[in-house]
Amino acid sequence: MSIIIKSDHEIELMRQAGWLVATVLEVLRARVRPGMCTEELDVIAAEEAKKLGGRPSFKGYRGFPGNLCVSVNDEIVHGIPGKRVLYEGDIVSLDFGIIYQDFQGDAAITIGVGDVSPEAKQLMDVTEGALKVGIAAARPGERLGDISAAIEQYAESRGYSVVREYTGHGIGRNMHEDPQVPNCTTPAFGLMPGAGPELQKGMTLALEPMVNIGDWATKRDDDNWTVRTRDGSLSAHFESTIAITDGEPEILTRV
Ligand code: MG
Repeated sequence: MSIIIKSDHEIELMRQAGWLVATVLEVLRARVRPGMCTEELDVIAAEEAKKLGGRPSFKGYRGFPGNLCVSVNDEIVHGIPGKRVLYEGDIVSLDFGIIYQDFQGDAAITIGVGDVSPEAKQLMDVTEGALKVGIAAARPGERLGDISAAIEQYAESRGYSVVREYTGHGIGRNMHEDPQVPNCTTPAFGLMPGAGPELQKGMTLALEPMVNIGDWATKRDDDNWTVRTRDGSLSAHFESTIAITDGEPEILTRV
């Protein structure tokens, strides 16, 4: 494992890339409405990124066909935008990445389409809360396992499960750098609280809890991309790119 520590200048470039990502996600949040098809969101994301001078990073990544990942209801991540229509009460996860001045930003939000059920609302709140506690744990001197444990504990203590087969990641000039950032403690990787690589200033990570109402098990569609819950339960996904500093972590993907 080789973790790339970024200079202040590199983090400034990532801050700019991150701002672009967050700005596009806010535009999408304002535009999501019942009756729209997921492809329309993809077009908006590409247009907004272009206006801002950034390049969507997912398009063509390992052959991914969209600019944006759009995952609806029981879909967890990597949904391909298309003709699917969004209905009132759906929840939709939007995951977007941009390359700007050779650096990457990566973030995700889950949004209710119109009015959603209290269960869906609570799932989204818990998932966003899990991301927040994960970020709060990302302090110098702590260990990677402390982030994973914080996310897992927050979600599981509220009766939810965290997806185990997909993780957060280091990020920089590449979308995926070391280390992987699991959303759960995994003894097999030696990732327990207080274990794993020591966190240090200049590390840049994408934290991205995926939280399910039901079981954590996943399955992949025949399109080879869309990941959904095996039991059909609802899933939410929130992601931020952050930088570890001397003190409080900095969220780079913010407007
Ligand atoms: Mg990511």
